[in-house]
Amino acid sequence: MIKLNKLTKVYRTDEIESTALNEVSFEIKEGEFVSVMGPSGCGKSTLLNILGMLDKPESGSYEFLGNEVSKLNEKGRSEVRKKNIGFIFQNFNLIDELTVFENIELPLIYNNVSASERKKRVNELIDKIGISHRASHFPQQLSGGQQQRVAVARALITRPPLILADEPTGNLDSSNGNEVMELLCELNEEGTTIVMVTHSSHDASYSQRTINLLDGQIVSEKKSKLAQAAV
Ligand code: ADP
Ligand code: ADP
Repeated sequence: MIKLNKLTKVYRTDEIESTALNEVSFEIKEGEFVSVMGPSGCGKSTLLNILGMLDKPESGSYEFLGNEVSKLNEKGRSEVRKKNIGFIFQNFNLIDELTVFENIELPLIYNNVSASERKKRVNELIDKIGISHRASHFPQQLSGGQQQRVAVARALITRPPLILADEPTGNLDSSNGNEVMELLCELNEEGTTIVMVTHSSHDASYSQRTINLLDGQIVSEKKSKLAQAAV
């Protein structure tokens, strides 16, 4: 699904150059659940932004679903992103002025799905994640864990084959965090590919493989204990 070859990203501000990613190469197969770990500033967010086509690399190649991303223009990237990628953020990034239902519905509106189909799909998913009784509430009326579940639902509603998650449990206590991780595992079992940036080795243990970054380079890769046990 994802194939990076010697991907490099340099940020330039005034006279200062900072190499955030330095010739990073790896592959992620469809159906995998991969964590990306490493100290602050090692390039995790940059990597996720590039995978999500929100940012462009300096050099190297990024193939997504068999297509070289650098050959796509802005519009092409946005189409590929809308159709294939769901994002989950540490701060939930829900729209406070919209209800739970409306937040989850938004990506379907962007994808020109009809109102009746939107209603059906949002209700189904709200049910699945156990917050139907909160459909007409606003994000600020929910607990952090509930907000993140809404954010997961919003990322999923278009049924994207890839979910990119940036510290999805970073603002949650451990019990809410575990609930969100279990939800991600369930999705992965249903076939969704997940790439998750995390500081937590506990969260990483839910994934099948961990890529460790340091100063913009991959320093190690390991299969998680759970994945090893399953073989
Ligand atoms: P992480 O997510 O692992 O904390 P980042 O990808 O945010 O790391 O950052 C990697 C490096 O790139 C850091 O040295 C950071 O200061 C630098 N960096 C990130 N974003 C920018 C930016 N917009 N402009 C300049 N430097 C940046
Ligand atoms: P994270 O908590 O994911 O590590 P950071 O605190 O590293 O995030 O970065 C938050 C935002 O600030 C990101 O959008 C990143 O691109 C930007 N940023 C990070 N480092 C720099 C920098 N040195 N100069 C300008 N922007 C930066």
